[in-house]
Amino acid sequence: MVEPRLCESCGMPMKEASEHGGGEINNPYCKYCTTVDGKLKSREEVREVMIGLYVSKGKTREEAEKVVDEHMARMPAWKE
Ligand SMILES: [Zn+2]
Repeated sequence: MVEPRLCESCGMPMKEASEHGGGEINNPYCKYCTTVDGKLKSREEVREVMIGLYVSKGKTREEAEKVVDEHMARMPAWKE
């Protein structure tokens, strides 16, 4: 049993190659954070995807932005 790797951009656990960017098991980013060829999207694009996710779960835009900004500040791909 292999430990699931966490996407270095959004923190999503990735158990299968198909969940990695470009379907490539060594890609440190998930399919949601990458373009079709497995390249990491821009910070703004990733942020929008995550905000949309929280809004779809019932948060307001404002609440979602706050949660996502705090979350991204801890991610290896985005922390400064
Ligand atoms: Zn991701």
